[in-house]
This record gives sequence, structure tokens and C-alpha cells, in this order.
Amino acid sequence: MSASSPGTQDSRLFDVVVIGGGHNGLVCATYLARAGLKVKVLERRAVVGGAAVTEEFHPGFRNSTASYTVSLLNPKIIADLDLHRHGLKIVERPLLNFLPLPDGRYLLTGGGRTRSEIAKFSAADAERYDDFGVSLSVVADALRDLALRPPPNVVKGLGLRSLRELTRAAAFGNSVRKLDLEQQRLFLDLFTMSAADFLSRWFETEPIKALLGFDSIVGTYASPFDPGTAYVLLHHAFGEVNGKKGAWGHAIGGMGAITQAMAKAAVEAGAEIETDAEVEEVLIERDSAVGVALKDGRFVRGRALAANLNLKLLYTRLLPASSLPPAFLTRMRQFKCGSGTFRMNVALSELPSFAARPGKEPEAHHGAGIIIGPSLSYMDKAYRDAKEQGWSREPVIEMLIPSTIDSTLAPPGAHVASLFCQHVAPELPDGRSWDDAREEVAELMVETVDRYAPGFAASVVARQILSPLDLEREFGLVGGDIFHGALSLNQLFSARPMLGYADYRGPIRGLYHCGSGAHPGGGVTGAPGHNAARVILRDLRPFALS
Ligand SMILES: Cc1cc2nc3c(=O)[nH]c(=O)nc-3n(C[C@H](O)[C@H](O)[C@H](O)COP(=O)(O)OP(=O)(O)OC[C@H]3O[C@@H](n4cnc5c(N)ncnc54)[C@H](O)[C@@H]3O)c2cc1C
Repeated sequence: MSASSPGTQDSRLFDVVVIGGGHNGLVCATYLARAGLKVKVLERRAVVGGAAVTEEFHPGFRNSTASYTVSLLNPKIIADLDLHRHGLKIVERPLLNFLPLPDGRYLLTGGGRTRSEIAKFSAADAERYDDFGVSLSVVADALRDLALRPPPNVVKGLGLRSLRELTRAAAFGNSVRKLDLEQQRLFLDLFTMSAADFLSRWFETEPIKALLGFDSIVGTYASPFDPGTAYVLLHHAFGEVNGKKGAWGHAIGGMGAITQAMAKAAVEAGAEIETDAEVEEVLIERDSAVGVALKDGRFVRGRALAANLNLKLLYTRLLPASSLPPAFLTRMRQFKCGSGTFRMNVALSELPSFAARPGKEPEAHHGAGIIIGPSLSYMDKAYRDAKEQGWSREPVIEMLIPSTIDSTLAPPGAHVASLFCQHVAPELPDGRSWDDAREEVAELMVETVDRYAPGFAASVVARQILSPLDLEREFGLVGGDIFHGALSLNQLFSARPMLGYADYRGPIRGLYHCGSGAHPGGGVTGAPGHNAARVILRDLRPFALS
């Protein structure tokens, strides 16, 4: 990685300047540099990776700071960028999920035991589980197909562009038409229904609905009873680990191992990466983006710019309002950003012993995604409490203890845990700042785990806290939105970020979207970066692409 000294002017003209060195920015940069373009990545933080980074948060204790578990990262991108050669190793979790219940029972899934575990609660639910998995995976397969393709864009008129979009719409339609009629109905259900209604069609008991329903509220400030949450569940099902569809895994060394491998691939391809380089303004000349002004006073010029940062941040803070079509700007201001998430990392002196499954010696359930959220109505109440009071007094938490499968993260015998807490308000009511509430809420999160694993609070040696405001300040995630914008139907596919701009091109010539605010949205997928690179290449090198 290179760094030109602050205060100097970079007189070179780059083909593409990428604003933000998150994983999508790095993926985009790599494809462009591989195609022979001169590419520069500018990252505001001291480390690349955006929300997918590993950092030391207490001496000897490292963990994925924000994003913490892998599945959605597209296998084509892993292969194209040769991430394994660049040091990436992903291992599957030994078991999928562990749901301890307040009455001392539990549900432990994965590793071939899911059906027998569900049968502890309902033989009928156990019977239906395989069919549910097959149905979900059929639709997830179709979605996976669509992830690496720009969605059809709505364009005016009948020119060449609209013809291209029609072809794209037909190709998109074909992916859905491959499904039989019943599967198409399921597709529609998953895009429109609430997770609660959807899951209730299959299952009668709460533990399995809660365990599956957690994925419908991840990063989504909504109740699982709200229409549209079934899609969020589906969004978390289109991944895979080492070829195993729907599985979740861990990158050895944490999520930063993914982005460090991507940075190596980008540099090997010839891209230049500069950290501690905050872009303050996008420069526009004669209605085209021509470069950026950095906070330290330097200018970097490019024939095109690819924006990896949150698009609401880009268009409301890095560009003068007068440079944008008013209707576009109004929509962008209305673009819904704001997950109900609160993220913590804790250093632990020992493993937690759960009341439902006692024991501090490492066991398979310690390596699973541990979900505190015993029923869908608990999750619904958590959302309603957060709306009224700023955060739920009984929050939903997923805890992962990655040090059980990755010894690089904590000293021997000690552990690190990720706490991904759902249902805090992106902005607190009554104008209260998250800075005044973060410690109190962090305490509540630890106490909540302690209720299920007595002694947990006493084992916490150190903690790192990221409130929604911290996520915005640290990573530029507006409203703490982990996906760069809600995954609601009006902000997905051809409507991401809005109708008319779904083709990775913004309203300003030469300014492209390569981050999670573009299709297919958030998660560590690499897909927006991949798709944007193809569009940019088509525009800059119209004859080089087949
Ligand atoms: C708490 C949390 C937990 C999550 N958990 C998971 C998970 O377990 N699994 C999963 O798949 N996904 C998860 N996600 C979602 C996923 O991490 C994100 O959707 C994804 O990382 C976004 O990648 P990106 O490259 O599009 O953008 P980002 O990672 O947001 O990268 C954008 C980059 O732009 C930089 N930037 C911003 N402004 C400027 C500027 N002015 N100048 C220069 N640089 C700038 C930022 O510093 C950042 O590096 C989680 C996210 C969060 C926040």
C-alpha cells in the first residue's frame, strides 16, 4: 500500500478513483486494475476493509470489529481474486445455532442433529424442517443467480439503453421463470410477507420459529411480524461456506482476513491503496465527476469515480446539493438507513456456562451462533420497546465466540465474543445522544447474556462498544445501517438505491456506485463491487468487454 505525503498534489490522472476501501471497493478495484486500468483506492480509516475488519480491542484480544460471520461472500469472487492464495481460510462453524430458553430447555442445530433437536419440541415441525430447507434453498438459488448481475434499470425513451435494459429484464425474468409455479409463489411470498407469517406456515412451535426468525431482523429495525421481513430471512440464506449452501463460517483471523486478502489481490493487480485518506468532496466539472478533494487538502483526479461509501453519505455530504437533480436528492435524503443494531466485542477470562447446557469446557455449542431471543413475540416486543424507549429492556442478541475455533484471536485459555444486539433505535427519542446511553445499554447486553449464562458478566475482562452512532462515526454507516440502506422492497433490485439508478451509475456522469447501497445490497458479498466494475469497464473500455 502506498501513501503520498499530506499536503502534496497527486498530479497523476487515474482511470478510476475508488472512494472507500471497504470489501466492495477492494473487489471493484481489483477487477478494474486486472483489466489494465490505473486505479487508486482512498480509505478514510487507517485500515482497509470497512465493516469487515479485525482489530485489537484489548491487549492480546482481537476480533472482527463489526461484521463477524461469513456465508454471503460470493464463491466466484473468492476464486477470481484468488483469495485463498492470498491467505484466506474459511472454516464452517461446528454447529449452526444454539437457542437457550429461559425454562432451561434449548435447541441446538446443525451437524446433522437439527431434526432430532426440533423433535424435542414438535415431531410435526421436525418432519417439515427438510421441506422448508429445500423450498428456501430453491429460492435462494435463484437469488444467488441474480446477485452477480445488474438488475434491469428503468430508463426513459426507446433508445439503445432501453433495449439493453429490456434484455436484462428478460434475463432476470428467466431466472425466476426457471422456478415452477409453486416455487414462484414462494418467491413472491418471501418478498412480501412477514417472517412470522411465513414461518408459521411451516412450524407450530416457537423455538424453531425464533431460531430461524432471528435472521429476519438482523440489521433490520422491524418486528418479525412486519411485512417484508421474510425477505431479510431469505437474504441471509443465499450464502455458502466452502461449497456448502446455506452454511455459516468463520474466517481464520476474523473478517479482516477477508479484506486483507482482497487488498493483496488489488495491489497485485496494480491498484494503489491509500489509507488515512478521507475524501471531503467530489469534484465536478461540466456536469461530470473528475476527481476528489481530500480532507488534508490534496486533490486526486480520475476519469471515473467509484463510490464504496454509503450513498446517502455520498450524496448528502460530499456533493453540493446544486449539482444533483432535485428529485434525486429528495429521494436520497429519504433513503431509509438505520439498523436497530448495537455491536459489542468482549474479552472473556473463560467460556460461558449456560443454565440450559452447563459447562465451561469448550463444547460444540460454544462454537455455534448463540441466539438470545426465545420467541418471535419476544423479538416483536423488543422492537416495540425500542421504538418507544430507545432500546429494548429485553434485547435480542446473537453471540459468537470465534476464539473457540480460531486460536489467533485471544491468549490461551481466554476468549473473545462478538455480541450482535438487535433492537435499539437508530436515533434515540427525545433528542438524547447515544453517547449518553452507550455504557448503560452495554451493561444491559452483558446482563442479558448473564441471565442465560450465570457468571458471564464476571468473566468480561474488557469490552468494545459500538452504538448506532459509533457505527456511523467509525465506518460512515448512516444511522448505523449495516447494509448501507434498509433491505425493504422499495430499496431492492431495480429500486436500489432508487428506480432509474440501479445500474451502478449515479446522476452525475462518471460517478458510479460500487458499495452495498447498490444491488444486491448489504452483507460481505463482494457482489456490488463485482457488478459495478463490469459497468465501469463497459463505459471506459466499450470495446474490451464481450
Ligand atoms: C455491526 C455489523 C455486523 C455485521 N455483520 C455481518 C456479518 O456477520 N456477515 C455479513 O456478511 N455482513 C455483516 N454485516 C454487513 C456487512 O459488513 C456490510 O454490509 C459490508 O461490509 C459493507 O461493505 P461495503 O464494502 O459495501 O462498505 P463498507 O464496509 O461500509 O466500506 C465503506 C468504506 O468507505 C470508507 N469511507 C467512508 N467515507 C469515506 C470518505 N469520505 N473517504 C474515504 N473513505 C470513506 C469507510 O471507512 C469504509 O471503509 C455487518 C455490518 C455491521 C456494521
